[in-house]
Amino acid sequence: MKICRFNDNRLGVVQDNQVYDVTAVRDQVLRGQSNDGWADPVIARLPELVKLIGDVRKLRDPVPLASVRLLSPVKRPSKLVAAPTNYKAHITEMQKVSASNTVRRSPDIGEAGMFLKATSALIGPSEGIRLRFPERRNDHEVELALIIGKTANQVGQAKALDYVAGYCIGLDITLRGPEDRSFRKSIDTYAVLGPWLVTADEIPDPDNLQLKLGVNNELHQDANTKDMVYSIRRLIEFSSAFYTLHPGDVIYTGTPSGVAPIRPGDTLIAEIEKIGRMEVAVKAA
Ligand code: MN
Repeated sequence: MKICRFNDNRLGVVQDNQVYDVTAVRDQVLRGQSNDGWADPVIARLPELVKLIGDVRKLRDPVPLASVRLLSPVKRPSKLVAAPTNYKAHITEMQKVSASNTVRRSPDIGEAGMFLKATSALIGPSEGIRLRFPERRNDHEVELALIIGKTANQVGQAKALDYVAGYCIGLDITLRGPEDRSFRKSIDTYAVLGPWLVTADEIPDPDNLQLKLGVNNELHQDANTKDMVYSIRRLIEFSSAFYTLHPGDVIYTGTPSGVAPIRPGDTLIAEIEKIGRMEVAVKAA
């Protein structure tokens, strides 16, 4: 099932370019539930919600997908976890950048560990990226993003996928420069998530998905998640070895080669197999 959040925090199911409003079902599921703790309440109850929604073919009164404003599919994750340098060709590319200017050489993911992006950077595709330092280099990075579905603490690879609620397209927008990675990547609007969440049952093998990103009419990134250094399972094991992952937490799994500068007026077109496609506008701050 493809679940979106749209307009004024409404919940929808996406099917054949139509959106079916299931906000009433969500509100019924959340009624009387406490909102304590770090879990996103909707993601924490996603299995129950999906069950209540039932057969998508029986839903009625859709609106065209093109008529809604898509928000981040997760409203309030406790963490945006991200993998640095998780594709070999991107590591080579960043080493070339670092040889030519001030960016340090990128260490291996096992050495560097994961990093965090501020949750306040999170937006959906309709909101647009607002470039804060246009005189500096700001890059696009398309990434498979996974959403944690249940509390995960020290989870081994064998069981790791049991903890995934679903998958989205993530854009890890990046200001290049000497500051700490989490600082440069936490600017407001620099964490895009969308266009919807595809529930994990529709993607049994997340380690074999084609992902692409174009700027305007030019294709920049075109790769497959099978070329990741750390697989999806290993990323969950690695991050949950350090901290508890809560329902709604997002893991950005790293970007392949082809990153390039973006400028106000650009349109980013991102696509991941079995998830979908989204367009995101780049604007001046
Ligand atoms: Mn990244």
